[in-house]
Amino acid sequence: MKKACVIGAGFGGLALAIRLQSSGIATTLIEARDKVGGRAYSWQREGFTFDAGPTVVTDPECLRELWKLSGHDIADDVTLMPVMPFYRLNWTDGVTFDYSNDEGSLRREIARVAPGDLAGYEEFERYAAGVWQEGYVKLGHEAFLDFSSMIKAAPAMMRYQAWRSVYSMVSHYVKDEHLRQALSFHTLLVGGNPMSTSAIYALIHKLEKDGGVWWTKGGTNKLAQGMANLFERLGGTLRVGDKVRQVHTIGDQVTEVECESGWRERFDAVASNGDLMHTYASLLGDTVRGKEMARSLTKKSFSPSLFVVHFGLEGTWPGIPHHTILFGPRYKGLLDDIFEHGVLPRDFSIYLHHPTVTDPSMAPPGKSTFYALVPVAHMGKLPIDWAEVGPVLEQRVIREVGRRLIPDIEDRIVTRFHYAPPDFEADLGAWKGNAFSLSPILTQSAFFRGHNRDDKLKNLYLVGAGTHPGAGIPGVVGSAKATAKLMLEDLR
Ligand SMILES: Cc1cc2nc3c(=O)[nH]c(=O)nc-3n(C[C@H](O)[C@H](O)[C@H](O)COP(=O)(O)OP(=O)(O)OC[C@H]3O[C@@H](n4cnc5c(N)ncnc54)[C@H](O)[C@@H]3O)c2cc1C
Repeated sequence: MKKACVIGAGFGGLALAIRLQSSGIATTLIEARDKVGGRAYSWQREGFTFDAGPTVVTDPECLRELWKLSGHDIADDVTLMPVMPFYRLNWTDGVTFDYSNDEGSLRREIARVAPGDLAGYEEFERYAAGVWQEGYVKLGHEAFLDFSSMIKAAPAMMRYQAWRSVYSMVSHYVKDEHLRQALSFHTLLVGGNPMSTSAIYALIHKLEKDGGVWWTKGGTNKLAQGMANLFERLGGTLRVGDKVRQVHTIGDQVTEVECESGWRERFDAVASNGDLMHTYASLLGDTVRGKEMARSLTKKSFSPSLFVVHFGLEGTWPGIPHHTILFGPRYKGLLDDIFEHGVLPRDFSIYLHHPTVTDPSMAPPGKSTFYALVPVAHMGKLPIDWAEVGPVLEQRVIREVGRRLIPDIEDRIVTRFHYAPPDFEADLGAWKGNAFSLSPILTQSAFFRGHNRDDKLKNLYLVGAGTHPGAGIPGVVGSAKATAKLMLEDLR
């Protein structure tokens, strides 16, 4: 029986390990932290459950597929709950917009906020369906290992003007600034600036419309745990709390994986779900290939980081939806500050996560769990002392949520803490504290992203946000499908 090792139990690593084990490869999944999930880590504090990262689950079918591979049902391990509306968008001029896939309500919302843009929206919708078909259905699960694969994709990219940004394409179809923001902000969920991320990412609109927006009962951490349960039930070996220190090589082959505990083992194939820079600079740091790749990665553009304030409140808010975007007074200017100038702006847009409105089990009775997330530049662009700035920013974010939605927020706080760029670096080995790996720009997409199989080390593979198609749960689960296909062909 062939043996494979997957380093890192983020969603990409978990999905790959399930695929390999389901296909009869004896798979060992190694996770550095004390539990699986990666960016979907979680904390329990004073009876509240706080999910660290992803909260919007889209394309549930790509998850169901992982259970179906071995004749299982996702419902055995995970309860998916629909979220409606998908998002409430709220601007400083008092305009709100409830965004969903309920055709009637969506059209009513557009007619209310941007009456002149209904026809333009319909055209945008057709555009989004087209890029979804080309970019997600046809190419979202394929490895781009050589330039010829890029050439094959070129006609579709030309047809859909992939060189334009999402915001530019949306603006081509609709004129109202609120609607432009409503149809373009989604790239922020995968670490992309709507002003520079390829218009291909408009496919998220179609992905959400068809598949819906879902929540995992108990938190997104339960989805990761459910995947780990499935993997172990299939006979896979899970090692948690043991960081991989080194991947050993001989010639153009990886041979052994060595952990900090001293445990080491030989494998026929090794895949890394860790940060790209960590994989090459640390795990392969004393090889020529590791050094070469680490050097080339320093020239790449990495996504920004995030500052997330977690808080548990006394009381419940049935009127605050599960997902709210509190836009700030500036859109492009704010994005430029974060993505281009690397400054800490005075204003901010906040994504407010309120899981208890869908799932009261996330907090003790009569209490509510929230997180408020603001994108911030990564530490390479914004080298500030987060130990000093963090508490000040935490207070400003709480005050802004109070000003916009919960006036007596300060009196209701039971527990609060924040997660800042250095935490991404310390906990996940994320280069410069990036939250979403490489920026999702055209020049870092497909063939230009991390390859699912290394070009020189023949049995080294990559999976997760740094590889094609990129960040986000459906993205990394798609990358696992592409990587698994290569590994299974090579191991046969
Ligand atoms: C705050 C936040 C909110 C988000 N919201 C959403 C959302 O709503 N919807 C959505 O779809 N996406 C969202 N995303 C993006 C999404 O969470 C990520 O793109 C995705 O989870 C990344 O998965 P991954 O497979 O790349 O691995 P990661 O989650 O990065 O996990 C990698 C794992 O590898 C482990 N590892 C690294 N090095 C080693 C080593 N040497 N030895 C052993 N283990 C190692 C790490 O500990 C980690 O567990 C969000 C991200 C963040 C940060």
